[in-house]
Amino acid sequence: MVTVAPDVPVPRLFTYALPPHLAGLAPPGVRVKVPFHGRSVRGFVVEVPDEAPPGRLKEVQAVLDDAPVLREDVLALARWAADYYRSALGEVLAAAVPKSVGGAPRSRDRRGSLQRLQGPLPKRLGKAQLRAIEALTGGPRTWRSLREEGISSDVLRRLELAGLVGEAAAADRTEADEELTLTSEQTLVLGPLLRAVEGPQPQTTLLFGITGSGKTEIYLRAIARVLEQGRGAIVLVPEISLTPQTLSRFRARFGDTVAVLHSQLSGFDRRKEWWRVHQGEARVVIGPRSAVWAPIADLGLIVVDEEHEGTYKQDSNPRYHARDLAVVRGQQLGIPVLLGSATPSLESWQNAARGRYRLARMRKRPGGAKLPDVRVVDMGREWSEVRRASLLSRRLVDAIKNTLRRGERVLLFQNRRGYTTYLQCKACGYVLQCRTCDVSLTYHRKGDVCVCHFCDAHVRPPKDGCPDCLGPPLSQRGAGTERIEQIASDLFPEARVGRLDTDVVRGGETAEEVLARFASGDLNLLVGTQIIAKGLHIPEVTCVGVISADSSLALPDFRSSERTFQLIAQVAGRSGRGERPGTTIVQTFSPRHFAVLAAADHDYEAFARAELEARKSLAYPPYARLLKVLVRGPLEERVGVLADTIGAALRALPEGTLIGVLGPVPSPRAYLSNKFRYQLLIKGSPGSIRQALACVQGVKAGAGVEVVLDVDPYHLL
Ligand code: ADP
Ligand code: ZN
Repeated sequence: MVTVAPDVPVPRLFTYALPPHLAGLAPPGVRVKVPFHGRSVRGFVVEVPDEAPPGRLKEVQAVLDDAPVLREDVLALARWAADYYRSALGEVLAAAVPKSVGGAPRSRDRRGSLQRLQGPLPKRLGKAQLRAIEALTGGPRTWRSLREEGISSDVLRRLELAGLVGEAAAADRTEADEELTLTSEQTLVLGPLLRAVEGPQPQTTLLFGITGSGKTEIYLRAIARVLEQGRGAIVLVPEISLTPQTLSRFRARFGDTVAVLHSQLSGFDRRKEWWRVHQGEARVVIGPRSAVWAPIADLGLIVVDEEHEGTYKQDSNPRYHARDLAVVRGQQLGIPVLLGSATPSLESWQNAARGRYRLARMRKRPGGAKLPDVRVVDMGREWSEVRRASLLSRRLVDAIKNTLRRGERVLLFQNRRGYTTYLQCKACGYVLQCRTCDVSLTYHRKGDVCVCHFCDAHVRPPKDGCPDCLGPPLSQRGAGTERIEQIASDLFPEARVGRLDTDVVRGGETAEEVLARFASGDLNLLVGTQIIAKGLHIPEVTCVGVISADSSLALPDFRSSERTFQLIAQVAGRSGRGERPGTTIVQTFSPRHFAVLAAADHDYEAFARAELEARKSLAYPPYARLLKVLVRGPLEERVGVLADTIGAALRALPEGTLIGVLGPVPSPRAYLSNKFRYQLLIKGSPGSIRQALACVQGVKAGAGVEVVLDVDPYHLL
């Protein structure tokens, strides 16, 4: 008899009998197949109960693992998450242990290191081969580290046969690892941290250090101490910043004990990495969100880099926040957690202010590099002065010209991909929209197609004129990265212009390839979406332009100011990281918005003060907890009725339980993927949010409607 958490959205556990041939083969922590409402589903054995519940038990159909794949402490964290986020434990566990884990794989892989051999490169090399060559330009690398970066052994073997690469003398280190002398700020920050590691003490530190202040060096030193003690560490990074640059810094310091866990790895590599960690062969895990579940024995530290990043929140079930789970895991294990950011989330900032986290600060860049000069350009004024709707202001154009003339590099940031952002009829105002999602379509010049950025529907643009009033052809409004790329190529014929966004990546070129071309100087002007805003460290970049700071300000979300501030600060941080000073030019129609002004002054604290004030008066986090309840289904009436019933039930809670119940209202994306969507937003204390959850779960949903609970929602859209 075993208690199983099946991978189904039903938040309870089920007991199954073990048939004789499986007796003794299903200890807690192994996965099993069990019958569930006529289907066969996977689940985790979480307990072996003493007493059978009443009634006849169904039987376990199969045991999937030879040995437990679930560590005790990971199960404890999953239980906490299932309870807090109101997800089924089985769903949480399915997110915690990758499906592809299987049994421990036998290694058939080459060991040792490879190096680039002298000699010219042939003209025609495949993309994958070029990538491999690029990866070897910095010096010899181990087979393993190359494979972990997604470079297949096949590609490497072919290059070896072609005589382009060859066996290197044992070199485990990927880059020369000069021991830096810590700055005085770094020394001050590191002292207490090392003591917390040695304790160990369950202490969370918020490391608030400006971009380029050397936070990574702090992570590395703290982890070194963890390893000396025979323990392991997890480093969480936002999805988009898991770059080879980041990885190679960790590999240079710690070699093969570094493992990467992320979903882009192929099934086999993922499985192999996971087992290396599970079996204690690798003791430092780097990865996005899901790496918070890494099965490390004797964990000694969890680092969360760029802790403010929204990508730490999962926006499908289970809707957990990896930073928050990292803090919980740290408390459960009694170990320190280190949150790093140049623009901390207001939640963490407030936790530091209240003394729940220790605050550590770094205000300078080692070597004294200055933060870039940030200039704000009022686009309303610009348009009236030049008498047209130009996308690049005169000031930005001048700055780009000067930068290119000096042989330095330019980054242009626009948070929209595609050519134009929408197509509109000049006569009647009609905007071309997606039929299933009720949002405007984005025109992409490549392929001459209109694309829905929510459901990815592709539609041919109407050729003959407005489909609504049969008037003139639709005109193109707004500008995406594709258009900015075009404009930049036209305006600066001498520039070598490139673009980086998810379209480029989907087109087959990897982000690393584009970035490598920019880093090598092959490109000197790069246009991109937020992919380029993070973690990029290229000393030759001395000019950064934010084409429109307004796109993030205009979002109907209480975090829009925070996002705008973070965005400008992060983008600006890409500039002037070398010896030469950098300039950042921010174009906006709201030049006096406090988030824009504070970002231009590099004044996080001024921003935080103003923003906290606003949050307080409206009872938004960190002054209240939020719960978003989304009701969705194909029939609008049923959706509306259920949303109203839930609203009424919440309002019937005793006076003063909740701070507020907003809605139900049609969600900002009221119709998405053929479903109507209504939402409620509930504000309360942590305790009263639990009451609200119980209340919502007490309302019967009925057929054809679905209720999605999002505790601590990140995106209100
Ligand atoms: P952050 O993570 O805070 O953005 P990084 O850790 O990437 O900053 O550091 C920025 C640069 O400063 C890196 O090139 C790093 O090698 C360098 N650096 C860090 N610490 C020191 C130090 N103590 N002395 C000299 N250079 C340093
Ligand atoms: Zn759509």
